[in-house]
Amino acid sequence: MPRDRFGREINYLRLSVIDHCNLRCVYCMPLRGLSFVPSPELLTAEEIETVARAAVSVGFRKFRLTGGEPTLRPDILEITGRIGSIEGVEDLAMTTNAILLPRLAGPLAEAGLRRINIHIDTLHPERLKKIMRFGTLEEIEAGIEAAEAAGLKPIKINCVVTRDYNDGDVVDLAARALERDWHVRFIELMPLGGGETAHIALSQFVPSRETRQRIEAVLGPLLPVPSANPSDESNNFRFEGGRGEVGFISPVSEPYCGTCNRMRLTADGKFHLCLLNDDELDVKRALRSLDVKRALRSGAGLPEVAAILARAVGTKPTGHRLDEGISTEDRSMFQIGG
Ligand code: SAM
Repeated sequence: MPRDRFGREINYLRLSVIDHCNLRCVYCMPLRGLSFVPSPELLTAEEIETVARAAVSVGFRKFRLTGGEPTLRPDILEITGRIGSIEGVEDLAMTTNAILLPRLAGPLAEAGLRRINIHIDTLHPERLKKIMRFGTLEEIEAGIEAAEAAGLKPIKINCVVTRDYNDGDVVDLAARALERDWHVRFIELMPLGGGETAHIALSQFVPSRETRQRIEAVLGPLLPVPSANPSDESNNFRFEGGRGEVGFISPVSEPYCGTCNRMRLTADGKFHLCLLNDDELDVKRALRSLDVKRALRSGAGLPEVAAILARAVGTKPTGHRLDEGISTEDRSMFQIGG
């Protein structure tokens, strides 16, 4: 298992396969002024597989497909199948807004997807429109049903708590963990990127402590669920007699950099050392300069990518400083050695 210079076991790689999204959540993507990675610049399914194989060879074991919205990628089943079939991949999950799952959940499970995290910020249709801007509650709920029917369990629900948008709706969502075996996780708003999204994140922030108090005041005490995984970013609880769990992910009020085991690859092949930090190594340039297709056919190429990943693990930073109100756009604030 690779360890970084802070002794952390780095074994979890998030693969962003596309930067497009079919929603425009107010804290994530502005309505205007966006530019997306042109298709030829996206890593191909084959290149993504090479990176995943290289990652496995240096000790990564858990992979998550994300975006943008990963289900928008036309070859998402091929990508899933390629990664799912790599020996040494112990976990393959996806984070999605679920809109396209009625069509894709079954084929994704067959292709090797094991688990899914579904993003839904509120169960109130009008407020959902205000915060996620496109998509409907019915579409997301149909996606959740499809994921359950496909056996992608446990269903983890991601709710980003945003003041005046959905902070009043957290009780209704948490109540789902009473009736269903869902893991409902409330995420603190992070100032990602810049401009209007970072502004909303900084001005509408709600600490997990407040969200928890709001939930317990109505639904009763939350009992801690000890985590088997020291790198679990979520503090998990359950209600007496409840079927599911409630979790709180608090990157701003309680940063968990000390136990972070994650890195991420962007859709255009940049390897990020921290999910919340823009320091990166250009994996795509390295891959392309090696001529991935020829390298794969001749059985070469993978060791060079593995060497890049191993070097990246060695330089993974600690401390994203979001708790100081610094957005991820301000790269100069991050220190990286090596
Ligand atoms: N489109 C997919 C989705 O909506 O889940 C995957 C990509 S999205 C960027 C991944 C997750 O990031 C979302 O589920 C949401 O919970 C979270 N997220 C996005 N912007 C965030 C922010 N500013 N602060 C905290 N979490 C955020």
